[in-house]
Amino acid sequence: MRRYLISGNWKMNTTRATAVELAKALVEGARAACDKVDVLIFPPAPYLIPVQDAVAGSAIQVGGQNAYFEAPGAFTGEVALEMLQDVGCQSVLIGHSERRHVLGETDSLINNKVKAALEKGLQVVLCVGELLSEREANQTEEVLDRQMAGGLADVTAEQMADVVIAYEPVWAIGTGRTASPEQAEAAHAHLRNWLTSHYNASVADATRILYGGSVKAANAAELLGQPNVDGALVGGASLKASDFLPIVEAGVSAAG
Ligand code: PEP
Repeated sequence: MRRYLISGNWKMNTTRATAVELAKALVEGARAACDKVDVLIFPPAPYLIPVQDAVAGSAIQVGGQNAYFEAPGAFTGEVALEMLQDVGCQSVLIGHSERRHVLGETDSLINNKVKAALEKGLQVVLCVGELLSEREANQTEEVLDRQMAGGLADVTAEQMADVVIAYEPVWAIGTGRTASPEQAEAAHAHLRNWLTSHYNASVADATRILYGGSVKAANAAELLGQPNVDGALVGGASLKASDFLPIVEAGVSAAG
């Protein structure tokens, strides 16, 4: 039985004060929900420590939005996986569409990050998703296959226990345009079939596949009700507790 994961990607938002305030509000508001679902937040790197302090003693998990694959050293501006672990992170987001399409990350770089994070024992949330032009050209499945094969190259079936996939159609991220539950379910089912054919049925059955792309309180229940949707990766609606907590509650209801 897959446990729902409701995650919030704060991107390059918040100040130290608002990040701490938001984290504290989530601790209060999601206390009971955390018995039923996993809640994971990705604050900006400079605020990881104060946010970790704010959630200390609660079940809310904190992860990094990105990390570099090399060991600490001469990589100006980068954050090492060891540094994330040093400040208490157990998860890292890799391959977000903004990193792919704004910052130019390739499947090969993403794969290096995925492998290095897994070797360190971190949970990886690997994002995949097609552009609008690719969907319109009926290339969605081809793009997902390429990103899965590229991102997960040389990742073993055992290591997949620490991998979460986030399906995030790029045309739905930050646009207010959400994939319909049917579109999300079709992509998630395709991803699960990919996991069966590239690993095995038990990996496919155990791997959580989150949906991301303009998730909000109004559409969360329907999306989370799809058989292959195991949670959400939420951007804009994760920046206010009053927007995010109802999504967490939708996860609790979906978990039954
Ligand atoms: C995201 O950043 O991963 C995301 C899905 O953003 P939004 O919810 O704002 O579309």
